[in-house]
Amino acid sequence: MTAVLFDMDGVILEGPRTHPQVYANAADAALAELEVDPTATQRRDFRDHDHERIQRHCQDLGIDLAEFWDRKEAHASSGTHDRLRSGERGTYDDIDAIHDLGERTTIGLVTNNRHETAEFVADYYEFDFDVVRGRDPTVEGYERRKPDPSYIEEALEAVGITSGIYVGDSEKDVTAGRTAGLETAFLRRSHNRDRSVDATHELESLTDLLSLVDSS
Ligand SMILES: [Mg+2]
Repeated sequence: MTAVLFDMDGVILEGPRTHPQVYANAADAALAELEVDPTATQRRDFRDHDHERIQRHCQDLGIDLAEFWDRKEAHASSGTHDRLRSGERGTYDDIDAIHDLGERTTIGLVTNNRHETAEFVADYYEFDFDVVRGRDPTVEGYERRKPDPSYIEEALEAVGITSGIYVGDSEKDVTAGRTAGLETAFLRRSHNRDRSVDATHELESLTDLLSLVDSS
């Protein structure tokens, strides 16, 4: 039966992405640990993801980019997990369909979010994913995010399959899934209601997947 791989943000977790405050807090925590005192402009850049700017500021402040990046990613993960545990960020009410699918076929989670958070989500909500892949906590890992297909390709290789459906809520999911050789399913959520995309399938709900997988 058709394997199904899922994006995470906007598919399982409510809202299209990690709240920017999570990264702001994570950058501040990493900078405090590294005992540096950046200017306001530098701090603003550290809170964002432009690694060329961050690299420049790291040089100016005498800290190691890889170390800053790793610490920031770790703090962003724990900040995100706190928000999920407290219910500040919720899940969509159709995610039971993922549990149902998991009883019938190979399922996986492939996200641009951090790998640590992908593992947390799989575990915390008790999904029985056959493979989980999020971005590595490095600049190189950040650069391999979708629309680059490489994390999807790695996941396919890990479970030994070459076909299936990639389900996502953004255009880059459709591009990455297609490039990896999969069918794509674009999931309509409130934040992408009016987007037009060229996916193999369109879903109004994750529940639609159950009949889609049965018929394919
Ligand atoms: Mg998404």
